[in-house]
Amino acid sequence: MYRTTSCNSLRKEQIGQSVTLSGWVNSRRDHGGVIFIDLRDREGLTQVVFRPEEHAAVSAASHSLRSEDVITITGNVAARLPGTENPRLATGDVEVVAQSLRVLNKAEVPPFPLDEEVGNEDVRLAHRYLDLRRAPMLRNLRIRHRVVKAMRDYLDAQGYLEIETPILSKSTPEGARDFLVPSRLTPGAFYALPQAPQQYKQLLMVAGVEKYFQVAKCFRDEDLRADRQPEFTQLDLEASFVTQEDIFSLVEGLLQGVFRAAGGGEVPVPFDRLTYHEAISRYGSDKPDRRFGIELVDLGDLFANSQFKVFRGAIDAGGCVKAINAKGFAGITTGQIEQLTEMAKLYGAKGLAFIKIENGEWKSPIVKFFSEAERATLAEKMRIEEGDLILFGADKWEIACEVLGRIRLRIAEIQNLTAQSNDLNFLWVTDFPLLAFSAEENKWNAVHHPFTRPHPEDVPLLERGQFEKVRAEAYDVVLNGVEIGGGSLRVHEPDLQKRLFEVLGISPAQQQTQFGHLLKAFSFGAPPHGGLALGIDRLVMLICGAQSIRDVMAFPKNNRGMDLMTQSPSEVDFKQLRELYVQSTAKRAPSHAPAAS
Ligand code: ASP
Repeated sequence: MYRTTSCNSLRKEQIGQSVTLSGWVNSRRDHGGVIFIDLRDREGLTQVVFRPEEHAAVSAASHSLRSEDVITITGNVAARLPGTENPRLATGDVEVVAQSLRVLNKAEVPPFPLDEEVGNEDVRLAHRYLDLRRAPMLRNLRIRHRVVKAMRDYLDAQGYLEIETPILSKSTPEGARDFLVPSRLTPGAFYALPQAPQQYKQLLMVAGVEKYFQVAKCFRDEDLRADRQPEFTQLDLEASFVTQEDIFSLVEGLLQGVFRAAGGGEVPVPFDRLTYHEAISRYGSDKPDRRFGIELVDLGDLFANSQFKVFRGAIDAGGCVKAINAKGFAGITTGQIEQLTEMAKLYGAKGLAFIKIENGEWKSPIVKFFSEAERATLAEKMRIEEGDLILFGADKWEIACEVLGRIRLRIAEIQNLTAQSNDLNFLWVTDFPLLAFSAEENKWNAVHHPFTRPHPEDVPLLERGQFEKVRAEAYDVVLNGVEIGGGSLRVHEPDLQKRLFEVLGISPAQQQTQFGHLLKAFSFGAPPHGGLALGIDRLVMLICGAQSIRDVMAFPKNNRGMDLMTQSPSEVDFKQLRELYVQSTAKRAPSHAPAAS
């Protein structure tokens, strides 16, 4: 027998009982020949003492124990000596006096201490099985389990069916780059790993499933930005005969259930809503963090006839003048102003105008250009007070908003505005644009994906070619400035879908080869449908308070897309390639980062 109980269960009430525990040696201390170990299993720690005067042979054997050895002990539960209790440990009032010891497996010295914060993530990833033994990591895995279970329970109760869709699927041109899998049985042909089960779930709606969900692995071969993984997990869902309102209340209830189950707090519903235009205009972001103010204020009216050429010029050119008030930040250093200016330039601004309000004075290189009336109106509009810092954006609307939006976030970071916050600030962002023009490709692309439904009021605009004005019935759900999911109502009419493909530059011939299955399915009576996908990794990260999505994934890739533990991707035999009809054009063998040790 390996165990009668766990390492987190013994309390004063069990004193005198005989117990058997199994686990890992967490730590070992030698107090003048008496060996103490903390024995660890998944549930917690129990102190075990080996007393030479009571059990000489067992005690002698305990001297060879080392951290991470796997052992089974049997012994009696005893009270710790008064004064040696450990209130930080659930089992801290007791210890087990070992009568027998079985070493099940010895362990090498681990490459990093498991009971401390480990700085080097590559070392952790190369030995992930050790990293996951650490309590914070195990806690994250548990929370993730609870989150996913709550999702399944909730959707099951709402009548949703969990249905698996293929991992070997078809490459389509929209969206990110595909991971491809060569087909041995069809020489020269490839499967693609799904970027999302989007088309399959829509086909399930045509199939009459009505309510579908899946905890779905998705694959996107993108350049890895911070906190992106080539494979990640979504809660994917789709329903027929639904409106946006139906989807919103479903997802609000779902998130409420998830946060409750995972101990993440009470989620206030219904969530606030902002249109995309409003979000950009007021916060300079389509995923605004609304735990703090610093809203963008439009000053177009004020400066439309100004003598200050920079502002007036921006407005005359069809742009705008906007500003934010960073309350109490007049003490900003020159270095910080320079940093913010650099940031503004990075996002397309020519510079960053500012006013500091210090000792009753407006300190700024630009106020000399303002009239008295402009000053007064500005003071009123921006609610200017002593100690404030006003920052301006005068540019095309998109640029001014984005620049001030970025600066707004940076200021909140510098001023630590959200560090102490336990707020769960959920928000729906609605009415995204349907299409965006790519100057690089000289064509229109879908903002969400090509199956997204145009806003009914804007279909005439689509017909008139005013593509930039067409809104989509697409929405994102945002938590504390992080996009945690998004979706849309879909096109279900074959003609409208063909028209949209056309606008996206997909010729009728391409439509047939790439999306023929979908168009055909739509011709057999497709119900109106819509859905959404939530990013499980990111959501769990927020609930856990983890710093990175890697911390809530059991076996993530590093930021170069490599699994440092298995050293993948790796080369394969020439024979394997030949069987797949694949010839490599790579000039040199893949360069692997040296195995961390
Ligand atoms: N498939 C979409 C995505 O991955 C979500 C959706 O529209 O349901 O972003």
